[in-house]
Amino acid sequence: MYSNTSTVLLYKRLLFVLLASGFIGWLFDIFWPAIAISSIALLIWHYHHLVQLAHWLWQSKSINPPHASGTWGRIYDGLFHVLNKQRKKQKQLRHRIRQFRDGAEALPDAAVVLSDDFIIEWSNKKAQNLLGIVCPGDVGQRIDNLIRNPEFTRVLYQQAFEAPFHIDSPLKEDTTLELRIMTYGVDQYLLVARDVSKLNRLETMRRDFVANVSHELKTPLTVMRGYIEMIQAPGNNFDEHWLTVFATIEGQVTRMDRLVEQLLILSKVENNATYDETYRVNLSDLVTNIVKECHWLNQDKQHKITSDIAPDIYISGIETELKSACTNLISNAIAYTPAQGDIQVSLEQVKQSMGMGVKFTVKDNGSGIKPEHVNRITERFYRIDKSRSRNTGGSGLGLSIVKHVLQHHNAELVINSQWGVGSEFSIIFSSTSVIQ
Ligand code: ADP
Repeated sequence: MYSNTSTVLLYKRLLFVLLASGFIGWLFDIFWPAIAISSIALLIWHYHHLVQLAHWLWQSKSINPPHASGTWGRIYDGLFHVLNKQRKKQKQLRHRIRQFRDGAEALPDAAVVLSDDFIIEWSNKKAQNLLGIVCPGDVGQRIDNLIRNPEFTRVLYQQAFEAPFHIDSPLKEDTTLELRIMTYGVDQYLLVARDVSKLNRLETMRRDFVANVSHELKTPLTVMRGYIEMIQAPGNNFDEHWLTVFATIEGQVTRMDRLVEQLLILSKVENNATYDETYRVNLSDLVTNIVKECHWLNQDKQHKITSDIAPDIYISGIETELKSACTNLISNAIAYTPAQGDIQVSLEQVKQSMGMGVKFTVKDNGSGIKPEHVNRITERFYRIDKSRSRNTGGSGLGLSIVKHVLQHHNAELVINSQWGVGSEFSIIFSSTSVIQ
């Protein structure tokens, strides 16, 4: 290592050479010429090593520095030591990059690393099969020049990277890809794509199956209802026992009918995933009419239903679906609030960061919901108290329908409930769905 001692040694050596040559020059009476000759010799020696160093740095292929003694030897040793350190670091880095690439190649998904202006920097082999992106051939190209898809371009330009999105494969027909873009490293993005065609097909099969079974069940149920009505017609003299049996059968048929009806609505809402055709819906009128209809539903329990509905609120959406969602919330309040309870329905404009949104609320002072159930009640067939729900004619599908409808309408369901105190269900429409 070059240190202060080496500097002292360097000066000592210089002094020694000058003194020795001065002494010899003094002996032969050529003091100054001897000093000059030794200085020139020293200079030539240093220049020789400088030339050697420049040659080694720029032209030599050898990694070992030239051999030298004295000060130059120590300089070469220092350089060799620094080079070695850097070589070790490079090796470690290469190893890490190889590990990352092996990991990325082992992924079952396509992975593409993009710069902050969406230029391709690297991609794995799977990206070639799924997206047609070849590395290193396509490195340096903009990703949207290679994936030409309106949805992809929209997501890229709006930088809407929070959720995954689907596009048709640019290479194969009947193949759907799920894409996700996330920030990665410093000023970079990672695009991950996977083939979800199989999952989509299974999901479609499931939906079709439910829709078909529900549809097929409708005819036998109608036939059964017809026969029961015939049996129960006045003039047929059955004894009390049989009348009870028929009433039970009728009750169960009605329950099944409602379940099938709800299943059909749910599959219709689920299958209606593309919302190209939305209409201007007068939500104020829609809610007013539902409240009127619900007064009729409420005859048995005599709840006090009050409403505060702001006029002229228009939403872009599908009227039948919005009606189904709002009706479900009000009929749940009726079903889960004891007789003579209070139910308040309101529709109002609310301030949001992007403009004015709309809030539809149904508040009751019924049984309320325990906190552990709140997150699960929108799941299909989830009922807190099955026997109670059965008595109220509940199928466990109502809130599932609401959830699906809201997904299509840029809206969210907010549930505030306190066990034993009551519940408040609100639908909050984003300002983008509101027609001003
Ligand atoms: P259901 O057809 O059984 O009413 P939903 O999906 O509409 O199915 O509701 C799921 C569950 O959420 C219900 O079984 C009920 O326990 C609970 N629930 C819904 N609305 C209310 C409410 N207003 N008050 C109390 N519990 C409710």
